[in-house]
Amino acid sequence: MKSSVGGVLRRAARHAPWVAAAGIAALVGLGRFRSFPRCGWTEVAALVGLLAALGEALARRFLRATQGTAPRLRDDLDLGLPLVALAESVALLGGGIHSPLYPTVYLVMAFLVAFLRPAAGALLTLAALALDLLAFAGQGALPRAWPELAAHAGFLGLFAVLYQVVLAAQIAASRRAEGQAVARRLRHLDERAREYRLIAAGSEEVDSTAAGQARWVAAAVREVEQAVGSALEIAERALHTHTCAVFLLSGDDRDLKLHDCRTRSDAVVREPFGAGEGLLGGVVRRRQPLRLAGPLKGLAYYERPQPVHSLLAVPLVDRRGGGSSSGDVTAAAGFVRGVLVADRIEDLPFGEADEALLAAVGREVLRAIEAERVMAYVKRARDEKDRFYRAIDELNRTAKPDEVFETALELCRSLLPIDFGALTLVEDRPGEPRRHRIVKVAGPNAGQALAGHVFDDAHGLCADAVRYGTTLPASGVRLGTRPVVFDEEAQLRGIQALKIFPLRSGDRVLGTLVAASRRKGAFEDEAVRMVEVVAMQVAQAVQRAQLFAEVERMATTDGLTDLVNHRHFQALLDERLAAARRYGKPLSFVLCDIDHFKSVNDGHGHPAGDAILRGIAALLAVQARETDIVARYGGEEFALVLPETDAAAAAVLAERIRAAVEARPFPIDRGTLRITLSLGIATFPDAADGKQPLIDRADAALYAAKRAGRNRWVAAEPRLARPAARAS
Ligand code: GH3
Ligand code: MG
Ligand code: MG
Repeated sequence: MKSSVGGVLRRAARHAPWVAAAGIAALVGLGRFRSFPRCGWTEVAALVGLLAALGEALARRFLRATQGTAPRLRDDLDLGLPLVALAESVALLGGGIHSPLYPTVYLVMAFLVAFLRPAAGALLTLAALALDLLAFAGQGALPRAWPELAAHAGFLGLFAVLYQVVLAAQIAASRRAEGQAVARRLRHLDERAREYRLIAAGSEEVDSTAAGQARWVAAAVREVEQAVGSALEIAERALHTHTCAVFLLSGDDRDLKLHDCRTRSDAVVREPFGAGEGLLGGVVRRRQPLRLAGPLKGLAYYERPQPVHSLLAVPLVDRRGGGSSSGDVTAAAGFVRGVLVADRIEDLPFGEADEALLAAVGREVLRAIEAERVMAYVKRARDEKDRFYRAIDELNRTAKPDEVFETALELCRSLLPIDFGALTLVEDRPGEPRRHRIVKVAGPNAGQALAGHVFDDAHGLCADAVRYGTTLPASGVRLGTRPVVFDEEAQLRGIQALKIFPLRSGDRVLGTLVAASRRKGAFEDEAVRMVEVVAMQVAQAVQRAQLFAEVERMATTDGLTDLVNHRHFQALLDERLAAARRYGKPLSFVLCDIDHFKSVNDGHGHPAGDAILRGIAALLAVQARETDIVARYGGEEFALVLPETDAAAAAVLAERIRAAVEARPFPIDRGTLRITLSLGIATFPDAADGKQPLIDRADAALYAAKRAGRNRWVAAEPRLARPAARAS
């Protein structure tokens, strides 16, 4: 019982904002809330209820916020409805529908639209409009006051929309400002990195992810700043300086720029100043420490005169080398990176011990900068290695010859700046002189016409590279004006740098990788050595791919005749028949059987029989078109599939084959042998409309040819013509 009462109360509380707002709306509709003096108890009670509901809604919202749950649309309305009702009733109390307080409703609306979700804003605007309509109706002002009501509605809508627009514009503006600030910070970091020479001036970093690069640079810059800062702090404390500052040379060594300082003055120059000027310029030029005492005027690193009485400056000399452009500074002596300066106001000259200390601090500063520079180098080297191993990995994963060639050239191009690249393979056929084939070309100016070009094993550089198994031309050898890379026919013009890498696998050389550039000296020794290693990997991949292709070929061809084998023939016939059916084209099938072949074997031996089988296979391959399929069907039986060929055309071909075999003498150990062939033809769709019926009818026709005396062809009759033939 108790719990059900509690439940009712809780539910009532849950709907309290709506109930209270509805109460107010009802009173407004009844024409109450006309003015403050005429405010009765009902109105007061309704307002108190409304305030209570509002308090409850606020409390619930606060609770949700502390629990971390986002307010829902319902919560927005629970808060908004009482507020709208409150604003409307208070405005009305100030003088009915003509109340001077009415603009409060606009303000409340603007507030709600700005802070609640757009859907809630829209619904509440509608609620306010409805309340206003009720007020006008309740006070009997309609239809006379329609224009005024319309004005109210217009202003309500205007405020709501204006606030949305203003808010959106402001958010966009602040986002823009934030973006600009971030960009400025990044630019600043970049500048710092260049000062430290962490990244080369004007260099495009090779790293692929810009975000990763930016993070890394930021971290590196922070590290250096901290290390430099603490070194300066030590100097400041130990030497009691007025200013202790590091000035670094710009990338072109022309300017000195304040890098970091510890100072009691606000006049230290932050802009770059000429590295040749003043005392600091002298320290940089002479690369010697400097100690001065007495009133010092016109110090270039102060904007205004400072009462400085003693000064100590040491050059920052980087003994580990690195890109200075000054001609007079040799690498052995190190490079001047900048100058570290300390000064005092007191007339207390710096001593030798001070100089030693500042020099030590200077070395610390340099070490910090150098450490990061080395890190940057290591990182770059690691990135390059990563790319290299990824490519090698890819090479090892590809098994198709064409993909291997493609990846090999890509790899070569990632290591050398090539304008033209090619991959050639040796073609060794038994009984034929060696030849070479360009299987793939690459590069921005790829001579695509060269792809597929076959050249003799003469004295081109490729042939030589294969012959000697070494990279050509050897380093130091000058390139002739017109180097013969492949042969005279396939010329490469305008080549200034060239390397031909042999593809060695064990003691075999499978071919070459050709890299050429129009720029003299484009190929650095280090990179060339890398490609030599790559070429060995490529050779292995090529060999693997060739083996793979060979296995595939073996699975589909007949070992004796090199024709399509029976199993592959069945699959191909299925394909061609399906195509013929799809495009409504005829297809002819021819079965051939050698006549009295058993006696050939018996009389001249099996090997002689095999040689004849090979000869017939070659003859059939020559007679057939590119699109025809020639297969070894069985022992001494062959099959031809002739797409888009009707019975008449098939008969012409059959006769040509029969005559060619008959006319050809086959050599045997003593003299030659004449062989004949019988052929059976069946054509789709006239003679049969499926694979097996087609084969069966060709077989029957072949049998008929044998029975009719051999050395002839017989075509299966069309199915419709058969009854007529039988009748005759
Ligand atoms: P027919 O004119 O009736 O065809 O007489 P045939 O002697 O050719 O008879 P058949 O077709 O039955 O004989 C098949 C012979 O072909 C049997 C076998 O000696 C020979 N033969 C089958 N396969 C091979 C092979 O791979 N090599 C060789 N040398 N002979 C084969
Ligand atoms: Mg046979
Ligand atoms: Mg036979």
